[in-house]
Amino acid sequence: MRGRVTEKDKVFRVRARDRETGIEALSNPAWTPAYMYGGDHKLFWGDLHCHRLEKPSAKRNDPLLWSYGPATVDEVYRFARDVVHLDFTALTDHDYALSTDEWREIQEGAEFYNQPERFVTLLGYEWSWNRGPDADCGHRNVIFRHGDMPLISSNWKGSNTPQDLFNIFRRISRTGCDILSIPHHPARLGNRIWHNWESMDPEFERLMEVYSHWGSSEHEGEPYALKARNERTQWEEPYAEYPPYEATGHFLQDGLRQGFRFGFVGGSESHDGRATSSVQIAHLPIKSTTFNHHAGMTGVWARRRERDAVFSSLWQRRAIGTTGVRIYLDFDVDNQPMGETISVQTPPKQMRVRVHGTAPLAKVVVVRNNRDWHVVETPGWECVFLLDELDMPQDQADWYYVRVTQEDGEMAWSSPIWIEDARRVF
Ligand SMILES: [Zn+2]
Ligand SMILES: [Zn+2]
Repeated sequence: MRGRVTEKDKVFRVRARDRETGIEALSNPAWTPAYMYGGDHKLFWGDLHCHRLEKPSAKRNDPLLWSYGPATVDEVYRFARDVVHLDFTALTDHDYALSTDEWREIQEGAEFYNQPERFVTLLGYEWSWNRGPDADCGHRNVIFRHGDMPLISSNWKGSNTPQDLFNIFRRISRTGCDILSIPHHPARLGNRIWHNWESMDPEFERLMEVYSHWGSSEHEGEPYALKARNERTQWEEPYAEYPPYEATGHFLQDGLRQGFRFGFVGGSESHDGRATSSVQIAHLPIKSTTFNHHAGMTGVWARRRERDAVFSSLWQRRAIGTTGVRIYLDFDVDNQPMGETISVQTPPKQMRVRVHGTAPLAKVVVVRNNRDWHVVETPGWECVFLLDELDMPQDQADWYYVRVTQEDGEMAWSSPIWIEDARRVF
């Protein structure tokens, strides 16, 4: 099927039906803009949080485990590129499980599968300090702009605290904007692996994972509660039946309230090598079950499907997190995109919100300083609006972001935009 879209400012979805079975499918929304900020940014989709089992070597050495999803770096990237059709992916195996040879394989695989305009790979790993009752410093996915960077493990003396890790990053960074550390499940109470705000380093921690199959960490009391094993639960019980188990004060809104500035991404935290999968087979004996919720995904507004462009946009916080669906979400204030800080002497003139759902939309909310500020109920599949009565910021800076909920329960979050009073910034 060939065709060319000539109409501007229209949203298209393609519906296909198999004549024999009657099975129907509907594509994600595609918008042909008459105007886009920055001229040529597009929304690309990927997964920055993807593991092969807890220990990749266990899977490779046990033939029984080969049937449970990709085991090699090649299989991981081929699945992400050819099966789930992602634009970018980072394989972020746990640092403590990786040998020197396995890290080299990950570096080589990331280089081999990184093909500009076809598929972007990002070299990364998870710094997952996880042992002992005093963990209290959280898990992070480290994502590099360059493909030849070293593994700095949480397992090693000298890099087993966030402070030591970031000091090493300051030494090995070439440009000052080529290493990202993305904390995940910040409000997860189980095993005390929540995010400790005192360990946050704004230089590298410019993004946080709002959603993965553990649940959402936006704020307390939301639909996708974080759950985890506690003293009373067993591996045999399905995760879905666990009670919420969340750490008060460790949600993203708590960090925003403290003045931290970070964008939002979504991740799968796949443990079977399949990006965007939520199958849980990390623990032996082999058991295939699902995590709490289904896997999340990240959307990035970038100029090109190319590693440097994708990384730059992540660095600039031009990202959205979703519950795993490709909801089209764009948001700007006076033509400044999500992730930006705008310094003003007079109130901003215009906020623009554009949402195209993968299902009918239940609610589109502009959140201001953690409060639902502007709410649009049941707008249908598309929701496009302008707001022109913005105020001067009240305190240091006001922050705005957009939260989308569809009728099928799927959600998306934009990264925030901060508005500073230029007269009060010193
Ligand atoms: Zn983790
Ligand atoms: Zn993880």
